[in-house]
Amino acid sequence: MSGPVDLKADVAEILVSEEAIQERVRELGQRISDDYRGRNLTLVSVLKGSLPFMADLMRAIDVPVRIDLMEVSSYGGTATESSGLVRILKDLSASIADEDVLLVEDIIDTGLTLNYLIRYLRGKNPASLRICTLLDKPARRLVDIPVDYTGFTIEDRFVVGYGLDYGELYRNLRFVGVLRPEVYSGGG
Ligand code: 5GP
Repeated sequence: MSGPVDLKADVAEILVSEEAIQERVRELGQRISDDYRGRNLTLVSVLKGSLPFMADLMRAIDVPVRIDLMEVSSYGGTATESSGLVRILKDLSASIADEDVLLVEDIIDTGLTLNYLIRYLRGKNPASLRICTLLDKPARRLVDIPVDYTGFTIEDRFVVGYGLDYGELYRNLRFVGVLRPEVYSGGG
């Protein structure tokens, strides 16, 4: 049975509130600004999940930045499990050679997607490459990823909101939360 989606009614629990996200984004922006002062910073974010984080983070940074966007899809997985097989749907639009690149991610789970992206971006000869993620789920990590800036470390649950989707919906929630079990099982 699939009735109309009621975004907020489908949320069982808020894990990270809108206020907590905004405060943490401000802190990260300040740290990144301090770390990259006088350098050539390019923020690279990965659509679609990182879109709200990227939009807020770039405005919390007060040193000059360029931005670029990639879009990848992992395939062979399920709606809640990534497979690590990554297809690039949208590539960088400019060279990052000799740029100080900060990769802005929504969430690191197994790390397989990011592992692929790091190797891909290193091949483009940036001056440096660091990783910033809003959320980190270390419990399920399969590959070791050096994360330089982390918003929140969360437990092993499938989360939605602030860019993260379930079935392409819930990205526009202003907080990060978990859905009612019946939504994931298709009963809602
Ligand atoms: P990984 O390759 O690290 O396992 O997963 C990376 C991608 O899987 C993320 O960029 C995100 O698109 C998706 N993902 C992993 N965990 C979650 C989650 O809890 N919620 C949502 N909506 N997506 C997730």
